[in-house]
Amino acid sequence: MTEYAHLYIDGAWVPASGDFLDVIEPATEQVAATIRLGDEGDVDRAVAAARAALPAWSATPLSRRVEYLLALAAGMRAARDELADLIATEMGAPIGLGRAVHVGLPASVLESHADVARELELERRVGTSIVTKEPRGVVAAITPWNYPLHQIVAKLAPALAAGCTVVLKPSVEAPLSTYRFFRLLEEIGLPRGVVNLVTGRGREVGEALVRHPGVDMVSFTGSTEAGRRIGTIAADLVRPVTLELGGKSANVILDDADLPAAIQAGVANAFLNAGQTCSAWTRMIVPASRRDEAVDLVRAEVAALAVGDPKDRSTRIGPLVSEAQRASVRRYIDGAIADGHTLVAGGSTAPDDMPRGWYVRPTVFADVDRASALAQEEVFGPVLAMISARDEDEAVAIANDSAFGLAGAVWSADEDRAHRVAARMQTGQIDVNGARFNPLAPFGGYKQSGIGREFGTYGVEEYLQVKSVQL
Ligand code: NAD
Repeated sequence: MTEYAHLYIDGAWVPASGDFLDVIEPATEQVAATIRLGDEGDVDRAVAAARAALPAWSATPLSRRVEYLLALAAGMRAARDELADLIATEMGAPIGLGRAVHVGLPASVLESHADVARELELERRVGTSIVTKEPRGVVAAITPWNYPLHQIVAKLAPALAAGCTVVLKPSVEAPLSTYRFFRLLEEIGLPRGVVNLVTGRGREVGEALVRHPGVDMVSFTGSTEAGRRIGTIAADLVRPVTLELGGKSANVILDDADLPAAIQAGVANAFLNAGQTCSAWTRMIVPASRRDEAVDLVRAEVAALAVGDPKDRSTRIGPLVSEAQRASVRRYIDGAIADGHTLVAGGSTAPDDMPRGWYVRPTVFADVDRASALAQEEVFGPVLAMISARDEDEAVAIANDSAFGLAGAVWSADEDRAHRVAARMQTGQIDVNGARFNPLAPFGGYKQSGIGREFGTYGVEEYLQVKSVQL
C-alpha cells in the first residue's frame, strides 16, 4: 500500500516528509502497517493547495458541489466491506458495526446534503439590506480515531457544500481507512486542492495547521483537553473555530417507562463501539423504586454482549483502540471499585480466554455517587454507571450535574412528560423513547462538550460567513 508513505496534496499522492509510525492492530497487538507522517512543510504545501483551489471551488454551483458528495457516498457504499475491514484492523470496531455505522452512517450524511442544499438559504432580504452567506475559506479539519470516517465526513461534507476547501489532519491511531477514503475522493474527480490530507501528531502537525496563516477556520473533534488548547490558539488569532468534544450523557428512565425497552436501548447505546463514542449514554439514571428490576435487566443485557474478534460477524464488543486506552479504562474500573460502587458486571481483568488484544469486559456499576469520578469523567470505554433517582426532579438534577452536555435520552409512557423533561436537560441532543439518528438534525454540545453544530443546514452554516449588502 504505497499511499501509507504518502500524503494527498493538490490532487496527487506525494511522499510524506516526517517520521515513520507503526499502526498496531488492537485485536492482535501486531503491526498492521507502517505509515509516514507529514511535517510542517507538508502543512504549508497542503494549505497553499487549498488556497489556490478556493476561488474556483467557491464559485462552483452548490448543486454541482453536492453531486460530488453523492458520488463519494456511492463510492463509500461500493467499498463498504473493504472500509469496514480496515476499520476493524486499525481500531477494533466489529465488522457488522463497521458496515452499518462506521461506513453506512457517513454515506447517509453525505447523501443528506442533497436535502441540505434545498433548505439552505444563501441570500435573504432583511429590511433595506440583502444578507448573503459566503464560504469562510480554507478549513483546517482535525479528527479523532473513534469513528474515523464518520468524523471526517462530518466536516468534509458541510465544508464542501458551503464552498470551502479543506486540509484534513486525521488521528494517527486509525489512519488506514482514511487513505482508502482519499482514493475514493480521487476517483470521483474532485478538482485538485479542494481536499488535502496531511497525517501527523496533534502537537506538531495539528498545531501547525491550526496556527497556519493560510487557514481561515478550524473545525476540531476530539478530547476536551485538546479542544481547549486549540480554542485558545484560535482565540489568540481571532480565528473561527468549532469544537466537538467529550461527553457524559445521561439516559433518564422515568418511573412509568417501558423498562425493558429503555434498558435494552440504553445498554446497546452505552456499549456501542466498546463505549468509545462521544455521545454514549454512559450514565443510566433509574427510578430508585425500580432499581433492582433495572439492575437485573442491565445484567442480562450485558451478559448477551459478545466480546471477541472484531472480524467475526457475531462480535458486539471488540478491543479498545490502544494499550494506553485500555490502561486508562482499567484505572477507572479499579477506581470505581475502590470508591465502593456496586459492581454489577465485568471488571478490570481481561475477558476469559483472551490473553491477546486490548479487550475490556463490558462493565456496569450501580448505586454510583453522582459526584464520583465515574459519574463525572469521560471513561471512553465499555463502562456504564447506574445512578438511582428518587423522583423526576432529582433525575433531571443528576442529568444536569455534569461539565458536559452532548447527548442524552429520556423514557416515559407519557410522551408530554418525556418532552417536558427533555426541555429541562442541558444537552445539545436528546432522544425521546428511543428515537433514530437523523442526519439532518444538528449535533453538538452544551457546556464543555463543545462549540458549534454538525449535520444538516446547521452544520453547513458553521462554514459560512454573513455579509450585509446595504441598499
Ligand atoms: P484527541 O483530542 O487526543 O485527538 C483528536 C485529534 O486532535 C487527533 O487528530 C489529534 O492528533 C489532534 N490533536 C491533539 N492535540 C492537538 C493539538 N494540541 N493541536 C492540534 N491537534 C491536536 O482525541 P482522541 O483520543 O483522538 O478522541 C477521543 C476524544 O474525542 C474523546 O474525548 C471523545 O469524546 C471526543 N470525541 C468527540 C466527538 C464529538 O462529536 N463531540 C466525537 C468523537 C470523539
